[in-house]
Amino acid sequence: MFIHEYQAKSLLNRNQILIPEGKVITTINDADSVLNTLPFKNYVIKAQIYGGGRGKAGGILTVDSKEEALEYVKTILGKRLVTTQTGPSGKIVRTVLIEEKVNIEKEIYISLTIDRKRACPIVIVSPEGGIEIEKGKTFFEEDITSPMGLYPFQKRRLIYSLGLRESSDEFASLIEKLYRLFIKYDITLLEINPLAIDKMGRLVALDAKMSFDDNGLFRQKEISDLYDPGELDPLESEAQKESLNYVKMDGNIGCLVNGAGLAMATIDLIDFYGGKATNFLDVGGGASSEKIEKAVRILLEDKRMKVMLINIFGGILRCDRFAEGLVNASGNKEIKIPIIIRFKGTMIEEGKRIIRDSGLNLIWADSMEEAASIAVIRVNTDQ
Ligand code: GDP
Ligand code: MN
Repeated sequence: MFIHEYQAKSLLNRNQILIPEGKVITTINDADSVLNTLPFKNYVIKAQIYGGGRGKAGGILTVDSKEEALEYVKTILGKRLVTTQTGPSGKIVRTVLIEEKVNIEKEIYISLTIDRKRACPIVIVSPEGGIEIEKGKTFFEEDITSPMGLYPFQKRRLIYSLGLRESSDEFASLIEKLYRLFIKYDITLLEINPLAIDKMGRLVALDAKMSFDDNGLFRQKEISDLYDPGELDPLESEAQKESLNYVKMDGNIGCLVNGAGLAMATIDLIDFYGGKATNFLDVGGGASSEKIEKAVRILLEDKRMKVMLINIFGGILRCDRFAEGLVNASGNKEIKIPIIIRFKGTMIEEGKRIIRDSGLNLIWADSMEEAASIAVIRVNTDQ
Protein backbone atom coordinates (compact mmCIF):
# COMPACT_ATOMS: atom_id res chain seq x y z
CA MET A 1 0.00 0.00 0.00
CA PHE A 2 1.15 3.52 -0.82
CA ILE A 3 0.49 6.72 1.05
CA HIS A 4 0.75 10.32 -0.06
CA GLU A 5 3.84 12.46 0.35
CA TYR A 6 2.22 14.69 2.97
CA GLN A 7 1.20 11.64 5.02
CA ALA A 8 4.68 10.15 4.78
CA LYS A 9 6.17 13.46 5.85
CA SER A 10 3.89 13.69 8.83
CA LEU A 11 5.08 10.23 9.86
CA LEU A 12 8.68 11.41 9.50
CA ASN A 13 7.94 14.52 11.49
CA ARG A 14 6.37 12.57 14.33
CA ASN A 15 9.59 10.60 14.44
CA GLN A 16 11.80 13.67 14.84
CA ILE A 17 12.88 13.98 11.23
CA LEU A 18 12.95 17.51 9.89
CA ILE A 19 10.45 18.41 7.12
CA PRO A 20 9.42 21.81 5.72
CA GLU A 21 6.45 23.50 7.35
CA GLY A 22 3.31 23.15 5.26
CA LYS A 23 -0.38 22.43 4.91
CA VAL A 24 -2.61 20.53 2.50
CA ILE A 25 -5.75 21.69 0.75
CA THR A 26 -8.37 19.71 -1.10
CA THR A 27 -10.63 22.50 -2.34
CA ILE A 28 -9.77 25.77 -3.94
CA ASN A 29 -11.97 27.61 -1.41
CA ASP A 30 -9.47 26.78 1.33
CA ALA A 31 -6.45 28.00 -0.60
CA ASP A 32 -6.68 31.64 0.38
CA SER A 33 -7.17 31.11 4.10
CA VAL A 34 -4.48 28.43 4.27
CA LEU A 35 -2.00 30.68 2.48
CA ASN A 36 -2.81 33.42 4.98
CA THR A 37 -2.07 31.21 7.96
CA LEU A 38 1.32 30.12 6.65
CA PRO A 39 4.05 32.33 8.09
CA PHE A 40 6.21 32.56 4.94
CA LYS A 41 6.07 33.91 1.40
CA ASN A 42 8.22 31.49 -0.54
CA TYR A 43 6.19 28.47 -1.38
CA VAL A 44 6.59 25.06 -2.95
CA ILE A 45 3.29 23.81 -4.32
CA LYS A 46 3.14 20.05 -4.70
CA ALA A 47 0.52 17.86 -6.37
CA GLN A 48 -0.25 14.85 -4.15
CA ILE A 49 -0.64 11.71 -6.23
CA TYR A 50 0.66 8.17 -5.87
CA GLY A 51 3.65 8.24 -8.18
CA GLY A 52 6.85 10.19 -8.57
CA GLY A 53 8.32 12.16 -11.44
CA ARG A 54 6.08 15.10 -10.58
CA GLY A 55 8.95 17.59 -10.66
CA LYS A 56 9.54 16.99 -14.37
CA ALA A 57 5.86 16.76 -15.24
CA GLY A 58 4.85 20.17 -13.86
CA GLY A 59 3.40 18.85 -10.59
CA ILE A 60 5.81 20.84 -8.40
CA LEU A 61 6.27 24.58 -8.55
CA THR A 62 8.19 27.03 -6.42
CA VAL A 63 6.77 30.56 -6.26
CA ASP A 64 7.59 33.67 -4.29
CA SER A 65 4.23 35.30 -3.73
CA LYS A 66 0.83 34.41 -2.38
CA GLU A 67 -0.83 35.47 -5.65
CA GLU A 68 1.29 33.15 -7.76
CA ALA A 69 0.74 30.35 -5.27
CA LEU A 70 -3.01 30.81 -5.51
CA GLU A 71 -2.90 30.87 -9.27
CA TYR A 72 -0.89 27.67 -9.51
CA VAL A 73 -3.07 25.86 -7.00
CA LYS A 74 -6.04 26.77 -9.20
CA THR A 75 -4.40 25.40 -12.32
CA ILE A 76 -3.44 22.10 -10.76
CA LEU A 77 -6.16 21.10 -8.28
CA GLY A 78 -8.65 18.72 -9.84
CA LYS A 79 -6.56 18.35 -12.99
CA ARG A 80 -4.99 15.25 -14.43
CA LEU A 81 -1.24 14.93 -13.97
CA VAL A 82 0.70 12.56 -16.21
CA THR A 83 4.22 11.63 -15.09
CA THR A 84 6.61 8.87 -16.13
CA GLN A 85 5.31 6.85 -13.19
CA THR A 86 1.53 7.31 -13.52
CA GLY A 87 1.09 5.60 -16.89
CA PRO A 88 -0.39 7.44 -19.88
CA SER A 89 -3.78 8.06 -18.26
CA GLY A 90 -2.24 10.01 -15.36
CA LYS A 91 -3.76 10.72 -11.96
CA ILE A 92 -6.27 13.36 -10.86
CA VAL A 93 -4.78 15.78 -8.33
CA ARG A 94 -7.22 15.84 -5.41
CA THR A 95 -4.87 17.19 -2.78
CA VAL A 96 -2.19 19.87 -2.95
CA LEU A 97 0.57 20.37 -0.41
CA ILE A 98 1.76 23.93 0.18
CA GLU A 99 5.14 24.11 1.87
CA GLU A 100 7.82 26.57 2.76
CA LYS A 101 10.53 26.67 0.13
CA VAL A 102 13.82 25.44 1.49
CA ASN A 103 17.04 26.95 0.18
CA ILE A 104 18.91 23.93 -1.01
CA GLU A 105 22.68 23.62 -0.72
CA LYS A 106 22.83 19.99 -1.85
CA GLU A 107 20.32 17.27 -2.80
CA ILE A 108 20.91 13.71 -1.60
CA TYR A 109 19.07 10.49 -2.36
CA ILE A 110 18.39 7.98 0.40
CA SER A 111 16.15 4.96 0.54
CA LEU A 112 15.59 1.84 2.58
CA THR A 113 14.11 -1.23 1.00
CA ILE A 114 14.25 -5.02 1.16
CA ASP A 115 16.77 -6.76 -1.03
CA ARG A 116 15.16 -10.09 -1.80
CA LYS A 117 18.29 -11.76 -3.11
CA ARG A 118 20.36 -10.81 -0.11
CA ALA A 119 17.31 -11.32 2.14
CA CYS A 120 17.82 -8.24 4.27
CA PRO A 121 16.94 -4.54 4.38
CA ILE A 122 19.38 -2.31 2.54
CA VAL A 123 20.16 1.38 2.54
CA ILE A 124 20.83 3.03 -0.83
CA VAL A 125 22.26 6.53 -1.07
CA SER A 126 23.45 8.82 -3.82
CA PRO A 127 25.17 12.19 -3.58
CA GLU A 128 23.32 13.18 -6.77
CA GLY A 129 19.74 13.30 -5.49
CA GLY A 130 16.85 15.17 -7.09
CA ILE A 131 14.76 14.81 -10.21
CA GLU A 132 17.48 13.28 -12.38
CA ILE A 133 17.89 10.29 -10.07
CA GLU A 134 16.93 7.74 -12.74
CA LYS A 135 19.96 8.84 -14.72
CA GLY A 136 22.20 8.76 -11.65
CA LYS A 137 25.21 6.51 -11.75
CA THR A 138 26.68 6.96 -8.30
CA PHE A 139 24.85 4.80 -5.79
CA PHE A 140 26.18 3.28 -2.60
CA GLU A 141 24.53 0.45 -0.71
CA GLU A 142 24.84 -1.11 2.71
CA ASP A 143 23.12 -4.30 3.87
CA ILE A 144 21.43 -4.21 7.26
CA THR A 145 22.25 -7.57 8.75
CA SER A 146 21.87 -6.74 12.42
CA PRO A 147 18.45 -6.12 13.99
CA MET A 148 20.06 -3.08 15.59
CA GLY A 149 20.55 -1.42 12.21
CA LEU A 150 23.69 -0.37 10.39
CA TYR A 151 27.04 -0.84 12.10
CA PRO A 152 28.96 2.36 12.90
CA PHE A 153 31.55 1.60 10.22
CA GLN A 154 28.79 1.28 7.61
CA LYS A 155 27.36 4.66 8.61
CA ARG A 156 30.82 6.20 8.34
CA ARG A 157 31.23 4.63 4.91
CA LEU A 158 27.94 6.19 3.73
CA ILE A 159 28.83 9.57 5.22
CA TYR A 160 32.17 9.43 3.44
CA SER A 161 30.56 8.44 0.10
CA LEU A 162 28.13 11.33 0.38
CA GLY A 163 30.81 13.82 1.33
CA LEU A 164 28.84 14.76 4.45
CA ARG A 165 31.50 15.29 7.05
CA GLU A 166 29.93 18.48 8.46
CA SER A 167 26.54 16.86 9.04
CA SER A 168 27.84 13.42 9.94
CA ASP A 169 26.24 13.10 13.39
CA GLU A 170 22.92 14.32 12.09
CA PHE A 171 23.05 11.91 9.16
CA ALA A 172 23.97 8.96 11.38
CA SER A 173 21.03 9.70 13.64
CA LEU A 174 18.71 10.20 10.64
CA ILE A 175 19.57 6.74 9.34
CA GLU A 176 18.80 5.23 12.73
CA LYS A 177 15.42 6.95 12.83
CA LEU A 178 14.59 5.84 9.30
CA TYR A 179 15.52 2.26 10.07
CA ARG A 180 13.34 2.22 13.20
CA LEU A 181 10.41 3.56 11.16
CA PHE A 182 11.05 1.02 8.43
CA ILE A 183 10.79 -1.88 10.87
CA LYS A 184 8.02 -0.47 13.05
CA TYR A 185 5.59 0.15 10.21
CA ASP A 186 6.37 -2.87 7.98
CA ILE A 187 7.62 -0.57 5.25
CA THR A 188 8.84 -2.09 1.99
CA LEU A 189 10.16 1.15 0.51
CA LEU A 190 11.04 4.36 2.29
CA GLU A 191 12.55 6.87 -0.07
CA ILE A 192 13.60 10.46 0.56
CA ASN A 193 14.56 12.21 -2.64
CA PRO A 194 15.71 14.83 -2.24
CA LEU A 195 17.02 14.88 1.28
CA ALA A 196 18.23 18.47 1.24
CA ILE A 197 21.10 20.03 3.07
CA ASP A 198 19.88 23.57 3.61
CA LYS A 199 21.97 26.73 3.87
CA MET A 200 22.29 26.18 7.62
CA GLY A 201 23.64 22.68 7.13
CA ARG A 202 20.48 20.96 8.35
CA LEU A 203 19.10 17.80 6.75
CA VAL A 204 15.51 18.31 5.59
CA ALA A 205 13.28 15.70 3.92
CA LEU A 206 11.85 17.59 0.92
CA ASP A 207 10.07 14.57 -0.51
CA ALA A 208 9.00 11.26 0.98
CA LYS A 209 7.64 8.11 -0.61
CA MET A 210 6.57 5.11 1.41
CA SER A 211 5.05 1.82 0.54
CA PHE A 212 3.96 -0.75 3.06
CA ASP A 213 3.76 -4.51 3.13
CA ASP A 214 0.08 -5.37 2.56
CA ASN A 215 0.54 -8.50 4.64
CA GLY A 216 1.42 -6.37 7.66
CA LEU A 217 -1.53 -3.99 7.38
CA PHE A 218 -3.69 -5.98 9.80
CA ARG A 219 -1.39 -4.81 12.59
CA GLN A 220 -0.81 -1.30 11.22
CA LYS A 221 -4.14 0.39 11.75
CA GLU A 222 -2.56 3.84 11.80
CA ILE A 223 -1.27 3.16 8.28
CA SER A 224 -4.22 1.28 6.80
CA ASP A 225 -6.48 4.19 7.83
CA LEU A 226 -4.52 6.36 5.39
CA TYR A 227 -5.55 4.26 2.40
CA ASP A 228 -6.91 6.40 -0.44
CA PRO A 229 -9.02 4.31 -2.85
CA GLY A 230 -9.43 7.35 -5.11
CA GLU A 231 -5.83 6.88 -6.24
CA LEU A 232 -6.53 3.50 -7.78
CA ASP A 233 -7.74 3.05 -11.33
CA PRO A 234 -11.54 2.38 -11.21
CA LEU A 235 -11.13 -1.11 -12.66
CA GLU A 236 -8.28 -1.87 -10.28
CA SER A 237 -10.30 -0.79 -7.29
CA GLU A 238 -13.30 -2.85 -8.45
CA ALA A 239 -10.98 -5.86 -8.80
CA GLN A 240 -9.54 -5.24 -5.36
CA LYS A 241 -13.02 -5.37 -3.82
CA GLU A 242 -13.41 -8.85 -5.27
CA SER A 243 -9.88 -9.75 -4.10
CA LEU A 244 -8.77 -10.40 -7.67
CA ASN A 245 -5.09 -9.79 -8.40
CA TYR A 246 -5.49 -7.36 -11.25
CA VAL A 247 -2.98 -4.95 -12.74
CA LYS A 248 -3.62 -2.83 -15.81
CA MET A 249 -1.00 -2.96 -18.55
CA ASP A 250 -0.53 -1.26 -21.91
CA GLY A 251 -1.39 -3.88 -24.53
CA ASN A 252 -4.54 -5.22 -26.23
CA ILE A 253 -4.65 -8.91 -25.25
CA GLY A 254 -6.77 -9.35 -22.14
CA CYS A 255 -5.64 -12.18 -19.85
CA LEU A 256 -7.83 -14.28 -17.59
CA VAL A 257 -5.71 -16.78 -15.68
CA ASN A 258 -5.75 -18.70 -12.42
CA GLY A 259 -2.55 -18.42 -10.43
CA ALA A 260 -0.03 -15.61 -10.40
CA GLY A 261 2.77 -17.79 -11.78
CA LEU A 262 0.60 -18.98 -14.65
CA ALA A 263 -0.46 -15.38 -15.30
CA MET A 264 3.17 -14.26 -15.52
CA ALA A 265 4.06 -17.18 -17.77
CA THR A 266 1.09 -16.30 -20.00
CA ILE A 267 2.19 -12.69 -20.28
CA ASP A 268 5.74 -13.83 -21.06
CA LEU A 269 4.43 -16.07 -23.83
CA ILE A 270 2.34 -13.25 -25.32
CA ASP A 271 5.45 -11.13 -25.27
CA PHE A 272 7.48 -13.97 -26.82
CA TYR A 273 5.07 -14.13 -29.78
CA GLY A 274 5.27 -10.36 -30.23
CA GLY A 275 2.07 -9.26 -28.50
CA LYS A 276 1.24 -7.17 -25.45
CA ALA A 277 -1.10 -7.93 -22.56
CA THR A 278 -3.87 -5.50 -21.53
CA ASN A 279 -3.68 -6.70 -17.98
CA PHE A 280 -2.42 -9.15 -15.44
CA LEU A 281 -5.29 -11.02 -13.85
CA ASP A 282 -5.03 -13.88 -11.43
CA VAL A 283 -8.47 -14.99 -10.26
CA GLY A 284 -6.87 -17.04 -7.49
CA GLY A 285 -7.03 -20.67 -6.51
CA GLY A 286 -10.49 -21.34 -5.12
CA ALA A 287 -12.43 -18.74 -7.10
CA SER A 288 -16.20 -19.19 -7.13
CA SER A 289 -18.17 -18.90 -10.34
CA GLU A 290 -19.40 -15.45 -9.13
CA LYS A 291 -15.84 -14.27 -8.81
CA ILE A 292 -15.03 -15.54 -12.31
CA GLU A 293 -18.08 -13.73 -13.62
CA LYS A 294 -16.91 -10.48 -12.03
CA ALA A 295 -13.41 -10.95 -13.43
CA VAL A 296 -14.74 -11.42 -16.97
CA ARG A 297 -16.90 -8.31 -16.61
CA ILE A 298 -13.93 -6.25 -15.45
CA LEU A 299 -11.94 -7.41 -18.48
CA LEU A 300 -14.80 -6.61 -20.85
CA GLU A 301 -15.05 -3.07 -19.47
CA ASP A 302 -11.56 -2.34 -20.75
CA LYS A 303 -12.16 -1.20 -24.30
CA ARG A 304 -8.49 -1.47 -25.23
CA MET A 305 -8.84 -5.25 -25.19
CA LYS A 306 -9.04 -6.65 -28.75
CA VAL A 307 -8.70 -10.34 -27.92
CA MET A 308 -9.32 -12.24 -24.70
CA LEU A 309 -6.94 -15.02 -23.75
CA ILE A 310 -8.13 -17.47 -21.11
CA ASN A 311 -5.56 -19.79 -19.61
CA ILE A 312 -7.01 -22.02 -16.92
CA PHE A 313 -5.32 -24.94 -15.27
CA GLY A 314 -8.05 -26.26 -13.03
CA GLY A 315 -6.82 -27.64 -9.73
CA ILE A 316 -8.62 -26.28 -6.72
CA LEU A 317 -10.51 -24.09 -9.20
CA ARG A 318 -12.74 -26.57 -10.97
CA CYS A 319 -13.19 -26.16 -14.70
CA ASP A 320 -16.98 -26.49 -14.44
CA ARG A 321 -17.14 -23.61 -11.91
CA PHE A 322 -15.01 -21.52 -14.20
CA ALA A 323 -17.23 -22.35 -17.16
CA GLU A 324 -20.35 -21.31 -15.23
CA GLY A 325 -18.80 -17.97 -14.34
CA LEU A 326 -17.70 -17.33 -17.90
CA VAL A 327 -21.09 -18.21 -19.36
CA ASN A 328 -22.93 -16.10 -16.77
CA ALA A 329 -20.71 -13.10 -17.45
CA SER A 330 -21.34 -13.25 -21.17
CA GLY A 331 -25.07 -13.46 -20.36
CA ASN A 332 -27.27 -12.82 -23.32
CA LYS A 333 -25.07 -10.25 -24.89
CA GLU A 334 -22.78 -11.20 -27.64
CA ILE A 335 -19.09 -10.79 -26.94
CA LYS A 336 -17.66 -9.11 -30.00
CA ILE A 337 -13.99 -9.90 -29.58
CA PRO A 338 -12.38 -13.29 -30.18
CA ILE A 339 -11.83 -15.40 -27.07
CA ILE A 340 -9.04 -17.96 -27.12
CA ILE A 341 -9.11 -20.55 -24.40
CA ARG A 342 -6.67 -23.10 -23.08
CA PHE A 343 -8.59 -25.15 -20.58
CA LYS A 344 -7.24 -28.11 -18.58
CA GLY A 345 -7.64 -29.87 -15.26
CA THR A 346 -10.29 -30.95 -12.77
CA MET A 347 -13.78 -31.48 -14.22
CA ILE A 348 -12.59 -30.47 -17.66
CA GLU A 349 -15.20 -32.44 -19.65
CA GLU A 350 -18.02 -30.95 -17.61
CA GLY A 351 -16.53 -27.48 -18.06
CA LYS A 352 -16.24 -27.88 -21.82
CA ARG A 353 -19.80 -29.16 -22.02
CA ILE A 354 -21.15 -26.10 -20.15
CA ILE A 355 -19.33 -23.77 -22.52
CA ARG A 356 -20.40 -25.65 -25.67
CA ASP A 357 -24.04 -25.85 -24.52
CA SER A 358 -24.06 -22.10 -23.93
CA GLY A 359 -23.32 -21.41 -27.56
CA LEU A 360 -20.38 -19.16 -26.63
CA ASN A 361 -18.06 -19.01 -29.55
CA LEU A 362 -14.52 -19.72 -28.38
CA ILE A 363 -11.30 -20.65 -30.10
CA TRP A 364 -9.94 -23.74 -28.37
CA ALA A 365 -6.20 -24.21 -27.98
CA ASP A 366 -4.42 -27.32 -26.75
CA SER A 367 -1.41 -25.69 -25.18
CA MET A 368 -0.38 -22.35 -23.68
CA GLU A 369 1.95 -21.76 -26.61
CA GLU A 370 -0.81 -22.35 -29.11
CA ALA A 371 -3.22 -20.10 -27.20
CA ALA A 372 -0.73 -17.23 -26.93
CA SER A 373 0.35 -17.45 -30.56
CA ILE A 374 -3.25 -17.53 -31.82
CA ALA A 375 -4.06 -14.50 -29.63
CA VAL A 376 -1.18 -12.54 -31.13
CA ILE A 377 -2.10 -13.55 -34.70
CA ARG A 378 -5.72 -12.52 -34.10
CA VAL A 379 -4.88 -9.03 -32.77
CA ASN A 380 -2.59 -8.48 -35.70
CA THR A 381 -5.07 -9.66 -38.36
CA ASP A 382 -8.22 -8.11 -36.87
CA GLN A 383 -6.88 -4.57 -36.78
P1 GDP B 1 9.11 14.22 -7.50
O1 GDP B 1 9.65 14.77 -8.79
O2 GDP B 1 7.74 13.65 -7.68
O3 GDP B 1 10.03 13.26 -6.85
O4 GDP B 1 8.93 15.48 -6.51
P2 GDP B 1 9.92 16.13 -5.43
O5 GDP B 1 9.15 16.38 -4.21
O6 GDP B 1 11.16 15.34 -5.26
O7 GDP B 1 10.28 17.56 -6.06
C1 GDP B 1 11.05 17.67 -7.24
C2 GDP B 1 12.11 18.71 -7.09
O8 GDP B 1 11.55 19.96 -6.69
C3 GDP B 1 13.16 18.40 -6.04
O9 GDP B 1 14.16 17.54 -6.49
C4 GDP B 1 13.69 19.78 -5.72
O10 GDP B 1 14.73 20.14 -6.62
C5 GDP B 1 12.49 20.69 -5.95
N1 GDP B 1 11.95 21.05 -4.62
C6 GDP B 1 11.06 20.37 -3.86
N2 GDP B 1 10.89 21.00 -2.68
C7 GDP B 1 11.69 22.10 -2.70
C8 GDP B 1 11.99 23.16 -1.78
O11 GDP B 1 11.49 23.23 -0.67
N3 GDP B 1 12.88 24.11 -2.18
C9 GDP B 1 13.45 24.08 -3.42
N4 GDP B 1 14.31 25.04 -3.76
N5 GDP B 1 13.22 23.12 -4.29
C10 GDP B 1 12.36 22.13 -3.95
MN1 MN C 1 11.29 13.21 -5.28
